[in-house]
Amino acid sequence: MARPIRADIRLSALAHNYALARSAAPRSRVLAVVKADAYGHGLASAAKALPGADGFATLELDGAVRLRQSGFAGEILLLEGYFGAAELVEIAGQGLATVVAGEEQLRLLEAHRPAASVDCYLKINTGMNRLGFPPAAARRALERLTATGVAKSVTLMTHFATADGPEGIAEAMRRFGEATNGMALPRSLSNSAAIFAHPEAHADTVRVGIALYGATPFAHRSAEGIGLLPAMTLRSQLIAVQDLAPGETVGYGATYRTTKAMRLGIVACGYADGYPRHAPSGTPVLVDGVRVKTAGRVSMDMITVDLAAVPGARVGSDVVLWGEGLPVDEVASAAGTVGYELLCALAPRVPVREVP
Ligand SMILES: *Cc1c(COP(=O)(O)O)cnc(C)c1O
Repeated sequence: MARPIRADIRLSALAHNYALARSAAPRSRVLAVVKADAYGHGLASAAKALPGADGFATLELDGAVRLRQSGFAGEILLLEGYFGAAELVEIAGQGLATVVAGEEQLRLLEAHRPAASVDCYLKINTGMNRLGFPPAAARRALERLTATGVAKSVTLMTHFATADGPEGIAEAMRRFGEATNGMALPRSLSNSAAIFAHPEAHADTVRVGIALYGATPFAHRSAEGIGLLPAMTLRSQLIAVQDLAPGETVGYGATYRTTKAMRLGIVACGYADGYPRHAPSGTPVLVDGVRVKTAGRVSMDMITVDLAAVPGARVGSDVVLWGEGLPVDEVASAAGTVGYELLCALAPRVPVREVP
């Protein structure tokens, strides 16, 4: 038998979450964001779960090309644009859509006009301050983009820095409105947080990422409360049980010390599987469906859990690290990070299984 860890990807959960985004933004096209191998879920699985998607958005050109070649005929948008003339040629040849994220990309387009025209998203920086044209430069950028003759269509786009938090999007919306005033073009603004919290920003096309995978974009609103279902369940088993006397320590660095007799379960899952090494003692884990806590440091291939709450547990007992029955957001919060990071960090050595 193989090491018992695996990640189950529930295709019906992906479809459910996509449908939920669609009903939250009923007048918008919904692009499913599948960058970073569909946030760790596998690009092919996401595409299979969403055959009726209005479109996909990703970052990696090779993934976009694979998606196109797998037969998806709708829009496939490159969220970070392109990084050279050869990529532009590939984008045009494969019929992909691209963000034009700044001066360098606009110059590349002017200098290397591909033979086929391309759907373009002109990105405007409204306060994230990573990519995008400054609002005051948007009009000139649009004129230059139009003058290339390469743009089959132009969508005006921005990305919010604080759609998930109390700061909201009012200032970003104000800047975007000013930059694009009078431009009769479609618009794309919203990520998952804005889809569920800011209907005023839905516009023509929304981009749903984390919510598609059943994790929350919010710090103070659970995925379950939104109605999302977890798409990835990271499962393993106990591969050993230790009965410890009081005063024993657990794991590297001996950071955990037993104060009484204790049954400890050893789970086949560690940081080389994508489990966060900085998850402290007390991070939740399910053993035979019962919530228990980690004890001691996460190591490369194993974590250790306190079995006091589940006396029937034995070698072979089922473990859920996150997913169905234990939201990834709770594990992330215990580890001082967000669900996004844990999902994306699923390690290549973990076997992935699609489940209906
Ligand atoms: C990743 C990304 C999204 C999706 O964000 P979520 O918070 O995961 O919904 C949307 N737009 C852009 C430009 C992105 O890079």
